[in-house]
Amino acid sequence: MRNILRIDLTNRQFAFEPLPENLKHLGGRGLISSILANEVDPKTDPLGEGNKLIFAPGLLAGTVVLNSGRCSVGAKSPLTKGIMEANSGGQAARAMAKNGIAAIVLEGSAGTLTQLKISSRTVVFEDAAGLKGLGNYDVINALKEDSCAIVSIGQAGEQQLTAAGIMMTTKDLHPRMAARGGLGAVMGSKNLKAFVLDDTADQPIVPADIKKKFTAAAARLSKGVLAHPLMQGLEHMGTPVLVNMINEMGALPTQNFAKGRFENAEALSAEHMTNLAQTRPNFKMSHKCMEGCMVSCSNIFTDEAGEVVVGGLEYETLALVGSNCMIDDIDMVAQINRECNDVGVDTMEIGGALALFMEAGKLAWGDGKKALELVKQIAGGTTDAGIMLGNGGLATGQALKVERIPHVKGRVLAGYDPRVLKGTGVTYATSPTGADHTAGNALPSPANPDYNPMASQGQTQVSMFLQNHNATVDTLGICLFPMLALLDIPDLKAPLIECVSLLTGTTLSDDYIDQTGGRILAIERKFNAGAGLTAKDDRLPGFFTRERIESTDTVFDVPQEEIDTINAV
Ligand code: SF4
Repeated sequence: MRNILRIDLTNRQFAFEPLPENLKHLGGRGLISSILANEVDPKTDPLGEGNKLIFAPGLLAGTVVLNSGRCSVGAKSPLTKGIMEANSGGQAARAMAKNGIAAIVLEGSAGTLTQLKISSRTVVFEDAAGLKGLGNYDVINALKEDSCAIVSIGQAGEQQLTAAGIMMTTKDLHPRMAARGGLGAVMGSKNLKAFVLDDTADQPIVPADIKKKFTAAAARLSKGVLAHPLMQGLEHMGTPVLVNMINEMGALPTQNFAKGRFENAEALSAEHMTNLAQTRPNFKMSHKCMEGCMVSCSNIFTDEAGEVVVGGLEYETLALVGSNCMIDDIDMVAQINRECNDVGVDTMEIGGALALFMEAGKLAWGDGKKALELVKQIAGGTTDAGIMLGNGGLATGQALKVERIPHVKGRVLAGYDPRVLKGTGVTYATSPTGADHTAGNALPSPANPDYNPMASQGQTQVSMFLQNHNATVDTLGICLFPMLALLDIPDLKAPLIECVSLLTGTTLSDDYIDQTGGRILAIERKFNAGAGLTAKDDRLPGFFTRERIESTDTVFDVPQEEIDTINAV
């Protein structure tokens, strides 16, 4: 039995409510969007008591389906002013599912800083004064106990800074983050510093009568996915493998998206990290960010002495904090990443904002040491620079009067230049959650040699297809990487759809993935329209359509009237 755990922070009350019949086929992003659409006024102040912060494991969390333990978090975003979903690895989704919790809905605001202990039957409210002003690493040390999943915010969330994310621990207590969209600020506005989920429960997710068929279908899915060559590459090199690839394409953000190639990209690459792994104790090029992962694309980055700096250092951070700021010292990028994890901010927003400091002449290009000093100012909340950075790229760019601010709906672009990867550009422009590469990143694939990412025609259809696909994947709670195999090998959809059919007791058709994603996006677009977002918000910044990028001599030229058809759907 799946329940919604509703927690009223204002009155220190909670209730476990059976998941309504009409939501039983949903989890993760789809469940969050539906609850927000039903229960939150789109015009509400994102940092006011009317907003709700929702955590939801994917529909398949806790099952044997590979990589199915992502935990989605959602609310109205203080960064984009629209609907937001961000998801993370870690242990939280699995712990929630095993406790029979389909969603935790946090309502109201506690009078004083609060922490919670959550299990399948109860919620304990505790004073969190002892955690006030602590970074996430200290919070983990203070709250860790045997078999638990910790969810927390750092100082940025407490200050309600809009680049704040929400940290979730892995089984081995490394912090991962639902980083994007300012959801940590929403948690801060509720005066909730942390909650600890009991990870000892073992409520069966798959009923005994379908277990055999379910396990067989999940095994067919795993076998097919893991045979895809991309999965082996991800296991050995992880997401940093993209540094050299995207640089080669000419789409690696460099010098605040002025260029698409960074001459020192090699120093930030997976190949360089692999060399470091040969000499540094405890350095790992392969690590699971959550239980049930069969790909292990993450890493543990250590210093020369073997002390862990971050687990892991991912492509988006290397691109936004590294090449985009022209910082070519990978150890410095890792240190900035650690500081972001601790204070609890999105490395992509911070990388985007640091580049704007550099563009404004307040910081030299490539000066990682001073950049780290600036990031350290976020925790104190007393300097203009720290507050600007903590509020992300748009706030920083506007305060420093920079013209070229790479954002959509207030959210900094990810590590792919839209003048080269134009389908991704359409996704940036039209995703309900702002410039979100995870909503539909249109990368070329050897399995689809006819796709030209630089063509101006056909990108809207590509983006829409991917947005529908990914909205469903985020609803099932599966990591996006293994699901890339389904794009190249459509036959692998069958065992996945069989698993969902068995679990929900329905017979789902072949178009389940496309149809479900489409419905979720329609709900999200309606919420955004109610919040006052219009077609004018579905625009890339003008400089991407005016400035030719020298790497490929292209601009973003997908016809705007074509892009506008997406939100007219
Ligand atoms: S493939 Fe990578 S991102 Fe996905 S669950 Fe595994 S470690 Fe995490």
